[in-house]
Amino acid sequence: MPNNSKDKKLSLEIKMDESKTGLNRRKFLASSISCAMAAGVISLCPGIAGAQDALEKKSDKERKMIYRGFGKTGWKIPIISMGVMRVPDPGIIKAAFEAGIRHFDTAANYQYGRNEQMVGNVLAKLGVRKQVIIGSKILVPAQREALTEQDAGQRINQLIDATLKRIKSDYIDILYVHDVSDPSDVSNPLILNALKEAKQAGKVRAIGITTHSNMAMVINEMIDVGDYDAVLTAINFTMADDDELMAAIEKAAKSGMAVVAMKTLAGGANWPNPETRRNYNAQTVTRAALKWVMNNENIVTSIPGFTNYEHLTDDIEVAYDLDYTSDEKKLLKDNNIKLSIGFCRQCRQCLASCPYNSEVPKLMRIHMYAAQYANFYLARQTLDEIPESRGLEMCRDCDTCVAQCANSVDIAQKINDLKLMYT
Ligand code: SF4
Ligand code: SF4
Repeated sequence: MPNNSKDKKLSLEIKMDESKTGLNRRKFLASSISCAMAAGVISLCPGIAGAQDALEKKSDKERKMIYRGFGKTGWKIPIISMGVMRVPDPGIIKAAFEAGIRHFDTAANYQYGRNEQMVGNVLAKLGVRKQVIIGSKILVPAQREALTEQDAGQRINQLIDATLKRIKSDYIDILYVHDVSDPSDVSNPLILNALKEAKQAGKVRAIGITTHSNMAMVINEMIDVGDYDAVLTAINFTMADDDELMAAIEKAAKSGMAVVAMKTLAGGANWPNPETRRNYNAQTVTRAALKWVMNNENIVTSIPGFTNYEHLTDDIEVAYDLDYTSDEKKLLKDNNIKLSIGFCRQCRQCLASCPYNSEVPKLMRIHMYAAQYANFYLARQTLDEIPESRGLEMCRDCDTCVAQCANSVDIAQKINDLKLMYT
């Protein structure tokens, strides 16, 4: 998308954030602390206490947040954005804006639409719609149903209109087709034509795809198609050996596509293994993982999910400084950590090892949503998307799990956990 005057204006507005709000990072932290003190709640707010530490350490100098260009759109945004998916409190979105976050990532199916509503309500109340980028996602019926081009166009249009209503805006900055793993969906004319029409109509400013599985193939297909502005892909340090994905990300960036990173914390900062907790504190874990992703200059920004003010404080620091501390370097070199995290990179290599053809990668993702994100709505929703003949039902009749992971995921343990959770 060329640099038209509207885009330049937005870019300028995004960069003018601090002067317009009157809040820079230090003022945000200071105001948060004084508010909490005034309310007498500071001892209940570990995030605020962490912010106070940060303020004390950094009070001697002001630093600049790192911005990167968003592909061919001409926008410039900070390298840390906000994944809103699991936010329980609208106040965290407001605090994120005041801290300098300018890109908010949501989806039509997060919290059954209430997540988009929360983003729309907070940004409308702040009166800052033009200063921010909202990315949202729709599950496109043409991916799963046999539809004519006209039906698909109408259905996609209805989904877009519903999102616009929920985010209280007449445009979506980035509209992603959610969860694409089949490269043929990338060039499906039923989907692509409807997206391009929405862009031409001004309802959408940039179009993209989110991919958790088969990422390299999906991204390469997007580059070949040439119509997409952005890809939101899973990427984290446990996948450093995925040469195909790294090459696809580099090629995408060179082609002018904005690459946005998700799953950057490899399934959440609360990695369920004693090894991590024994040797590293939560801040080291979060920052090491985020810095590893954002030190790749082919990636524009990442969307870690903040569920409390402490996460915001931990993550926002990375937007100012990508140098590793010695502990962060140690963690990233620690192979035991990578193995013990057991992050499922959705490579699908385990499929052949399950005699009942269960959707093991999706079941592993559901386990992450439930056990690590504690997002039981999303876990249930994703579980319901799997046909019964390939879902947890198959595992219930299976005494011993023989599915094998090509990496380090304990499939049998996670399937057992799921059976207990969803009896
Ligand atoms: S469980 Fe292992 S083999 Fe299966 S998709 Fe996940 S990482 Fe790949
Ligand atoms: S328990 Fe394991 S082997 Fe059995 S159906 Fe489920 S994934 Fe396949």
